[in-house]
Amino acid sequence: MTMNNLKIACTLILLASSILHVSCNRGPYASTNKSYKKQAKAFAKIIKQAPLNDSIATGSWVGTTNFNMRKPNFVIIHHTAQNSCDQTLKTFTLPRTQVSAHYVICKDGTIHHMLNDYLRAWHGGIAKWGNNTDINSSSIGIEIDNDGYETFTDQQLNSLITLLASLKKTYAIPTANFIGHADIAPTRKNDPNVNFPWKRLADSGYGLWWNDTTGVIVPQDFNNLQALRIIGYDIRDSAAVIQTFKRKYEQIDKSPVLTEEDRKILFTLYRKFE
Ligand SMILES: [Zn+2]
Repeated sequence: MTMNNLKIACTLILLASSILHVSCNRGPYASTNKSYKKQAKAFAKIIKQAPLNDSIATGSWVGTTNFNMRKPNFVIIHHTAQNSCDQTLKTFTLPRTQVSAHYVICKDGTIHHMLNDYLRAWHGGIAKWGNNTDINSSSIGIEIDNDGYETFTDQQLNSLITLLASLKKTYAIPTANFIGHADIAPTRKNDPNVNFPWKRLADSGYGLWWNDTTGVIVPQDFNNLQALRIIGYDIRDSAAVIQTFKRKYEQIDKSPVLTEEDRKILFTLYRKFE
């Protein structure tokens, strides 16, 4: 190697190490953050269009002066069924996975915000609640780091409740509309798992809970499945719905049959949805 070549080689090494240094400093999500921005810009371009080019060309464009962004009206709570927060962040930044959520809450209580609340995340999949068959369009998705069996940490629950308070207030989300993934997809999903403290959430104002059943007499003509339908469940698979209901409201994971005590619980809950 000549002296000149050595100089060139040294310069190249220095240059490479400085590039490496810069890319390390930008963090592991620099390129996916760039992709986020690019996609958001493409949507902004569509929103700015005038005259419109969305559904039907009528030949007459008159822009109204009175509007704002659509807002979420449901919150869907999930467990990640993965081994770590890092794994989930990676999953939600790989285009081929086609899944995402607005928020991910780690075991230490850290909340990662991954998507603007006004935009549509891909967390619900094929799902139904009442007559709503496009839950992703009207909801915020919150994923809690949990392998599917663990209990949830206090830090996670505290962060979750802080986040829910902010969402409920900002978007005026009804108390009944804080629900779980299993609620909207009972045949496919069981998250958040049986350890999730739905009562604690309901006591804080997120989701509805049943009343004390002492002395409650369920009317003879009370129809279990119709009550579950009125609450919001898709009752096409009755066994799956009953199991989901018992997991959520009684924290038990067993037979898909409603006992007389289960019926009392269902009855007091259903009356809040009438
Ligand atoms: Zn889920």
